[in-house]
Amino acid sequence: MTRILLACLWFSLCDLVIAAESSGTFPASMMTIPERTAYQRTSTFAEVLAVIDALQADTDLMHREVLLETVEGRQVPLLVIANPPVRSPQAAQASGKVVIYIQGNIHGGEVEGKEASLILLRDILYGDKRHLLENQILVMVPIYNADGNDQMSADSRPSQEGSPLLAGERFAHGYDLNRDGIALEAAETSALYRNVIQRWDPDLLIDLHTTNGSWHGYPLTYAPSYRTAGDPQTSDYTASVLLPAVTQAVQEKYALSFSWYGDFDAQSWPPTEFRTFHHGPRYITNTMALRNRMAILSEAFAHDRFYMRMHATKVFVEEVLEFTRVHAAEIYAMNRAADARTIEKIREQGGRFENGVQYAMVPLPEPLALLRYTHIPYQAPDGSIGITRTPELVTIEGVLNYNQFVPAKMATVPRAYVFPAQLKTVADKLEEHGVQVTILSQATEFTGEEFMVNAVGKQAFMQNGHNNSLLQGVFQTGRKTFQPGDYLVSMEQRLANLIFYLLEAEADDGLAY
Ligand SMILES: [Zn+2]
Repeated sequence: MTRILLACLWFSLCDLVIAAESSGTFPASMMTIPERTAYQRTSTFAEVLAVIDALQADTDLMHREVLLETVEGRQVPLLVIANPPVRSPQAAQASGKVVIYIQGNIHGGEVEGKEASLILLRDILYGDKRHLLENQILVMVPIYNADGNDQMSADSRPSQEGSPLLAGERFAHGYDLNRDGIALEAAETSALYRNVIQRWDPDLLIDLHTTNGSWHGYPLTYAPSYRTAGDPQTSDYTASVLLPAVTQAVQEKYALSFSWYGDFDAQSWPPTEFRTFHHGPRYITNTMALRNRMAILSEAFAHDRFYMRMHATKVFVEEVLEFTRVHAAEIYAMNRAADARTIEKIREQGGRFENGVQYAMVPLPEPLALLRYTHIPYQAPDGSIGITRTPELVTIEGVLNYNQFVPAKMATVPRAYVFPAQLKTVADKLEEHGVQVTILSQATEFTGEEFMVNAVGKQAFMQNGHNNSLLQGVFQTGRKTFQPGDYLVSMEQRLANLIFYLLEAEADDGLAY
């Protein structure tokens, strides 16, 4: 009797050992730095490369390119993961699969996406997430702002409260990379457009951040690409189908409550409004809707411990990929239908319809049950009133959720734009965005509208070295002859909505601005 029991026990132990080996015993080289340091440290650029090397050693599913060599000489890796493997954009296109782009660390101190994407990669290649490669190709840049990442200090991210102990710098040699989606001035942005957005044409871009200090109560908040002048369907689908499905899945599987991105006035009680960020396409996610593609902004909650932020970011991306895997064909078709619709509308109605050039933030129809921390007001020695947070979470019902935008000023959408040869910088910028620009080979007379500037408003604050300009003026109808060498931009192309936003004189985030 004893002998039989012992034998059973022995077999059970064997089963356990085999199970552990087949599901997730990884060599230490595949573990991220936070996992190896009790979440006290985040990875340097060199440490990210070492983990990627270890992950690539035993698989042919990963193809590797260089996104750019940074100002400080770091070769930023771009990973393409597919099953069967894909080594070129042509092969990706021929596969008919959706391409999902995952970007970490655009702000050098917001490090969760960097670590979470490496762990996700490990689980896909060697763990239990291989099925996430069904119907989709993943393009990953875990460490986009490599130079900013390695400028580590203890005070770069005060709202993260020392977890991890050191974190990188937000900017890339002076540029906020998430304000550069129109001007494309930083080397990183230029490379992103050339080597990811145009080369791999992602159907969905996921940009991974960490909040700057809001005391809402969500482990992670998100936003779709705010569509402004873009075809409505891609961003509406992200906002009203994809994100709610992911939120529900994360709640069911992990008991985590994710919600819309935004902030509120912590001094007022109770808060009545929750407001998101600016709609401008200078934000990388917002530019995607103008390109008829989808995007998601992900913001881990800064005040959570580092390991919790990594976990929230990882399960969010994972559940987005679970959704896109199942709905790949639908997403693929929807993006291309938006392309076709954009061109068709110009062909049929170009010059005879309007679209928005300036936008106002408005609440969604459904108010938010806002989860937030309470606070205690106190009087400082100098008499001013401050607040300090408590650990108590409360729900405030009926908060207006300002998370969409409506046009505040409209302009006619033309059939084409024409501008003189001396604006070569504008033509070059358009081409960097992937727009087809033609040069007139002979003098040509056009009938159309010309924008006459009568005032230039200047923003009071500087961003990426600019005080932006808002042009004021009037449109005059007439005929005008342009010369050989001048530029013509036909709107009969899939990026027509982007061209409109870039070139309209009064656009609140265009090239004139
Ligand atoms: Zn950020």
